[in-house]
Amino acid sequence: MSNCIFCKIVNGELPSENVYQDEEIIAFKDIKPQASVHVLVIPKKHIDSADALEQEDAGLAGRLILTAAKIAGQFNLGNGYRIVTNIGEDGGQAVEHLHFHLLGGEKLKDSF
Ligand code: 5GP
Ligand code: ZN
Repeated sequence: MSNCIFCKIVNGELPSENVYQDEEIIAFKDIKPQASVHVLVIPKKHIDSADALEQEDAGLAGRLILTAAKIAGQFNLGNGYRIVTNIGEDGGQAVEHLHFHLLGGEKLKDSF
């Protein structure tokens, strides 16, 4: 999607501090961290949100979560962490490109 900021990060049109990358997934530090560790894990392919996932994306959806957990290991988050994905306006989604927030490195506040 041409006007999607995360597609621009995938394409290298916008800078990002990457912590992981493979052929279908990229992970980078959130520009406005909400915790000591705040990484966004996204598919390179544009998908609006978790609500827009299709059956054919089931493997990718699983690999996004597995990747978030692997990155948690890289950041030594063995004491616990949170994986969150916001969906739509009421869910607080600001960027309409599927992303999983990986949050940790401190005792996290209750999220709701
Ligand atoms: P949402 O509210 O959609 O779940 O989360 C969007 C996240 O993307 C926010 O935490 C915000 O700080 C982050 N973000 C927005 N624009 C950029 C950007 O250009 N670069 C990076 N690294 N993060 C961004
Ligand atoms: Zn996109």
